Amino acid sequence: MRTLAACFEKHVTKIIITFKKDIGMKKHNFSAGPSILSEYTIKNTAAAVENFAGTGLSILEVSHRGKEFVAVNDEARALIKELLDVPAGYEVVFMGGGASMQFCMVPYNLLNKKASYLDTGTWASKAIKEAKLFGEVDVVASSKDANYTYIPKNYKVAEDSDYFHFTSNNTIYGTEMRYDPDMKVRLVADMSSDIFSRPIDISKYDVIYAGAQKNLAPAGVTLAIVRVDALEHVDRPIPTMLKYKTHVDKDSMFNTPPVLPIYSALQTLKWYKEQGGVAVMEKKDKENAAILYDEIDRNKLFKGTVAVEDRSIMNVCFIMNDEYKDLEDEFSKFASAAGMVGIKGHRSVGGFRASLYNAMPKSSVEALIACMKEFERTH
Ligand SMILES: *Cc1c(COP(=O)(O)O)cnc(C)c1O
Repeated sequence: MRTLAACFEKHVTKIIITFKKDIGMKKHNFSAGPSILSEYTIKNTAAAVENFAGTGLSILEVSHRGKEFVAVNDEARALIKELLDVPAGYEVVFMGGGASMQFCMVPYNLLNKKASYLDTGTWASKAIKEAKLFGEVDVVASSKDANYTYIPKNYKVAEDSDYFHFTSNNTIYGTEMRYDPDMKVRLVADMSSDIFSRPIDISKYDVIYAGAQKNLAPAGVTLAIVRVDALEHVDRPIPTMLKYKTHVDKDSMFNTPPVLPIYSALQTLKWYKEQGGVAVMEKKDKENAAILYDEIDRNKLFKGTVAVEDRSIMNVCFIMNDEYKDLEDEFSKFASAAGMVGIKGHRSVGGFRASLYNAMPKSSVEALIACMKEFERTH
């Protein structure tokens, strides 16, 4: 039986925890994904969980076919078109299954005989593995031999390939292709971790896909921008849900979409627009990355892990210099005590990774830099 005292103690503990959270130290969220979202996104999402669009109901409990949510879905898709300057002939659809499901949807919908892939890391190789289930896969180049620390260049893509697939930003390794390659064949890109961080020449692509949890929304929704006339070139039957055309034809409402993540995505998109769009994001992201890379290059304790010309502005990977290797744990603890969250590197790289997605304020990057300087001063 619970005594009154125990009840009281539990209650007080709860108040103290809430209080600590409220006055708690500022956290700087460098997580790789799910990751930082704008305050605007979080606040508006929280408000809609309480009362959605004046319905007096939570967004968690309303019909996706109701006019309020249909408006959200349509506005989010329209804003993606606006922000990325998506030309006519393309559609934007939201799906479940993560970017990982796109690894099979792309070949399912586009691969007749042969496709070409660039192997720049874990996500690229997972995409390659799925494509092999559907036909011949030509891996045009790979940087696996150097633990994916660079982007291969001067590769050749066979002109009889159904498409060429690349990963624009390698979230785990911190390399990035910040350009839209010129190809004679259809072009497909996994832009999960750098979409909305620059203007894109959409007209060069047939499919662009991105899981939402890096630069857009909480996990649970994946967006694809598809060239509609590229979707009906394969002969095989495609299961309904895995067919892009199904989602395109139903205005991305074939079945119940991930309602809450789409609502959050809309908030982020509105915030992007209010900030001035993706070119403004790019400028800010580049500045954030530049000051952090400058510190990594200057600070005697640290070094970057990837080829300088291929450095990602989204995921900054760095390790301790050889002579300071044994300080790694200590720096980790020092940084987390200063409020840094999520800077541990992926297990396949080690060291540290600071993800600087669009919602990252410069003040947080400066806080991390201050931490690195202070650690250097005391060691
Ligand atoms: C995170 C990530 C994925 C995997 O996304 P899921 O939504 O977990 O399937 C794929 N590609 C890239 C580039 C990523 O960053």
